[in-house]
Amino acid sequence: MTANRRLLDDCFLTDKERMTHEEALALILDRVGPVATAETVPVIDAGGRVLAETVLAPRDVPLSDNAAVDGYAYGSASFEATGGFFPVIDRVAAGHRRAAPVPPGAAVRIFTGAAMPAGTDTVAMQEDCETHAQDGAAFVIVPPGLKPGANRRRAGEDLKAGTLVMGEGTRLRPQDVAALASLGRETVAVRRRLKVAILSTGDEIVRAGQPIEPGQVYDSNHALITSLLGKAGADVTDLGVLPDRFEAIRDAIVAAAATHDVIITSGGASRGEEDHVVTALDEVGRRHLWQIAVKPGRPMTLGQVGDCVFLGLPGNPVAVFACFLLYGLPLLSRLEGASWREPVRYPLPAAFEIRSKKPDRREFLRAILVSGDDGTLRVEKFARDGSGLITGLREADGFVDIPEPVTSVKAGDLVAFMPFAGFFP
Ligand code: AMP
Ligand code: MG
Repeated sequence: MTANRRLLDDCFLTDKERMTHEEALALILDRVGPVATAETVPVIDAGGRVLAETVLAPRDVPLSDNAAVDGYAYGSASFEATGGFFPVIDRVAAGHRRAAPVPPGAAVRIFTGAAMPAGTDTVAMQEDCETHAQDGAAFVIVPPGLKPGANRRRAGEDLKAGTLVMGEGTRLRPQDVAALASLGRETVAVRRRLKVAILSTGDEIVRAGQPIEPGQVYDSNHALITSLLGKAGADVTDLGVLPDRFEAIRDAIVAAAATHDVIITSGGASRGEEDHVVTALDEVGRRHLWQIAVKPGRPMTLGQVGDCVFLGLPGNPVAVFACFLLYGLPLLSRLEGASWREPVRYPLPAAFEIRSKKPDRREFLRAILVSGDDGTLRVEKFARDGSGLITGLREADGFVDIPEPVTSVKAGDLVAFMPFAGFFP
């Protein structure tokens, strides 16, 4: 069976035909294109947004050679002739310039960040110099051994005029915003924020603030997904909690699809009698994926209703969290036209054992970093199994990614640790 065949609407996928983690990710990365149009925003507000232009350096940064320390600037060619004994003929502070060249054999007092005057190429640190007054004139004694060009920052050493600084699709981190500002940019073109509608399903789900009765569960997925979307920089519409009723879910999906880039549901994604998300999607849209050979997250669904992407997450909070990070974030990135960098996996020794794991299933364990007696890092797995346990998500530092073929893990084996922070660069 080819991967393509699995993209067809096929509700009868057997266990063996579930899409693998890699296939699901490839489907998202290959098939989902950018929907978001561009807008211009102040650079100062652009953190987290996705660049919609190519940024070249219009000029050198820094603009001129300048002093890296407080001290004395001189021309190194004249060091030998002077023996390091220079008259101090001027004082140049940061933000001020000496237009006239410094003649050979003379020095100027200079401060960090001040442009190096013509005729100077080296700065001696003030701590290493001796000053000397003679007949009302100031002199400095510069110690020998300084390399020509010492303590000088070169024009363009950060960014050279004309070079590509960052390309379209870059998600702007604080340091990228700083680079834009260093180029003098006040505004920048970025993709507009994605509009995401979220919906909880389940007769047992109750919103916080309501009284709760036995058999009911507070809607933690709504809070979890809203908060994750906030981190991902999307605008959220809350469609509330819907009962396990086909028509209600179908109608809500249709209404939201017209005005949103993405709909994310939680719960009701399996094929039980009380699960209506997949059948609703099938009636009003197209399904590209249902069921992945991944734990947690098996019943995840991906499809579209018109141009609106549909992501049906399982109900269990642990699966919601894992699926959002593993698939939701790359999906949102693609829609925003952003490049997606797979989070780094760090090989670390396991501080746990797995006696027998099913083959052909990828597992993402909730993992806790522990430091051994010798100070080396190892990963422990959250002791309890329940996929409803938010406690485990809170204790964990990341996932351990156990590939499909692995059926057991011994203590000390190297396993792939993915810090949660790696998903949010
Ligand atoms: P389901 O996928 O609908 O069968 O739900 C699986 C499990 O997740 C059930 O125990 C649900 O009660 C729970 N669950 C579903 N939706 C939520 C939610 N919004 N908040 C917290 N737990 C939920
Ligand atoms: Mg349910």
